[in-house]
Amino acid sequence: MTSLFDLFVGVRGSKGLLAEEWVVMAVPKRSTSKAKSRSRRASSWRLMAPAASLCPTCSSPKRPHYVCPSCGYYKGRQALEVEA
Ligand SMILES: [Zn+2]
Repeated sequence: MTSLFDLFVGVRGSKGLLAEEWVVMAVPKRSTSKAKSRSRRASSWRLMAPAASLCPTCSSPKRPHYVCPSCGYYKGRQALEVEA
């Protein structure tokens, strides 16, 4: 990945043995575009589908760590009574 920052390295008095290298602090190479900062801020608002797994008892989709809504089983035992 290309760096957003450039170290400015200069050489002063570059004649023979008097050459002296100096470095100033890192400075952004270009300002962050509107699209870049807006998409960064929008990432916290993004809607995500809830995690899904298959029930080991009835193999219908359910949320992990939740009682299965279709058979009422959790950890291999009947945790809820579900009307058929
Ligand atoms: Zn189930």
